[in-house]
Amino acid sequence: MNALEGKVAIVTGGASGIGRATALLFAAEGAKVVVADLDGDGAEATAARIGAAALAVRADVSSPDDCENVVRTAVERFGGLNVLFNNAGIIRRSTALDLGVEDWDRVMAVNVRSVFLMCKYAIPAMTGGGSIVNTGSGWGLKGGGNALSYCASKAAVVNMTRALAIDHAAAGIRVNSVNPGDTDTPMLRDEARQLGEDWAAFAADAADRPMGRAGTPEEIAQAVLFLASDASSYVTGSALVVDGGGLA
Ligand code: NAP
Repeated sequence: MNALEGKVAIVTGGASGIGRATALLFAAEGAKVVVADLDGDGAEATAARIGAAALAVRADVSSPDDCENVVRTAVERFGGLNVLFNNAGIIRRSTALDLGVEDWDRVMAVNVRSVFLMCKYAIPAMTGGGSIVNTGSGWGLKGGGNALSYCASKAAVVNMTRALAIDHAAAGIRVNSVNPGDTDTPMLRDEARQLGEDWAAFAADAADRPMGRAGTPEEIAQAVLFLASDASSYVTGSALVVDGGGLA
């Protein structure tokens, strides 16, 4: 039997990278998937690769109305909600000195407020219990250079995950974070651009960890599947690190 047979899942940031790989894996494991992303065309492209078991919704996860609409769409079109993957995120590679105030606010809105908003609307829809997976980062568990707002936002995601797990365990809802190390997605390439670094040098730096390489979106998706599915039925409030040994 497939791990998510009969389940309905929402994946935010499902147009690209880790979100797209996870949406495809969830569908392959039997889920119906709502692919939500600011990039509406990208979300459509992910949904098209899945077919009738998927639906694309253009949404800005920092907007309460958009978040409410994503949840409503899942329930109306697929009849309920079991899994929420809060994965949409952005990064600004800056120190406190060169980070604009608007950039700080945007990172917090997209990476942190989104988790609150999506949970606020999704949890009441998980009437039969459910699993929420939030994308943190290795930089939610340790510091990193030139990434002040991102480090703050991902640490918030890791601890919000614990608070949510405590509040909603009695309702049969588990909440965990998946914490990737450097993973080869468009975001990683964007970081190299933001820092003005050559991609080859940046990629070599990303590979500097015990396993000697960056991760793939598909490897992160497998960890998310574990947390989303009943295979992790006694796991809640945890921070699962998936980073080729980087934090070790
Ligand atoms: P990605 O390829 O850039 O995908 C992120 C997706 O989120 C994009 O489609 C992006 O759309 C979308 N998005 C951005 N802002 C949004 C908003 N306000 N509302 C809805 N969607 C929005 O990045 P990724 O590497 O897969 O990252 C996924 C998650 O993993 C993020 O939370 C990231 O912080 C985390 N993470 C990544 C790494 C890594 O090395 N890649 C490591 C640790 C953690 P646009 O393209 O239109 O902006």
